[in-house]
Amino acid sequence: MSSIRENVQALLAELPPGVELEAAAKGQPPEKIVEAIKAGVKIIGENYVQEALAAKAVIGSSVRWHFIGHLQKNKVKKAVEIFDLIETVDSFELALEIEKRAAAVAKIMPILIEVNSGREPQKFGVWPEKVIDLARQIVELPHLRLMGLMTMGPLTGSPEEARPYFRETRLLFEELKRLNLPNCEMRYLSMGMTNSYRVAIEEGANLVRIGTKIFGPRE
Ligand SMILES: *Cc1c(COP(=O)(O)O)cnc(C)c1O
Repeated sequence: MSSIRENVQALLAELPPGVELEAAAKGQPPEKIVEAIKAGVKIIGENYVQEALAAKAVIGSSVRWHFIGHLQKNKVKKAVEIFDLIETVDSFELALEIEKRAAAVAKIMPILIEVNSGREPQKFGVWPEKVIDLARQIVELPHLRLMGLMTMGPLTGSPEEARPYFRETRLLFEELKRLNLPNCEMRYLSMGMTNSYRVAIEEGANLVRIGTKIFGPRE
């Protein structure tokens, strides 16, 4: 089995210029995250606020911390304090809570809108047809800064089957760019995981969230 170092170096060598690597670290102890950082990872994706707090206490702010899980309202205060980017905003209600907590600590919180590109009822994320309206509402909030879109896409099937969902998300990303909304800088298109990142990059992703291919299979 290859080491974390080898995995990260292979990924960094493979990713085209302009595509950033985010290590999806759920369930990983801080030592393993540190190995990934020593090999060149600069962005850590965390699904749980508590886990991120523990890891960040050990590792510090030499890397960027992104939140990629489902954000519960009672965790927003902490999330606003510790994350550099919240990738999973999927309702105006959640955006308002972030606005309130960010205003309280005088922080401008960078966020992405999570798109439920597969229109799967049991999944989080806003359906594609609602993204532009939500973006228009979010840019009215002075302590949020809309920085792009994130999507998971349906997890079943071959990576090729994810392509239409990535494509639809990228078209929304471009549409939002063209709208040139105030208080909005469409910089990140976060799509693609271990199985699907190559297809995601072909469809325009510039931030890929990789867990298994860095850390090995989760227990
Ligand atoms: C776990 C996770 C990933 C990475 O998944 P892998 O298949 O292990 O690469 C990416 N994004 C999110 C939101 C995740 O929860």
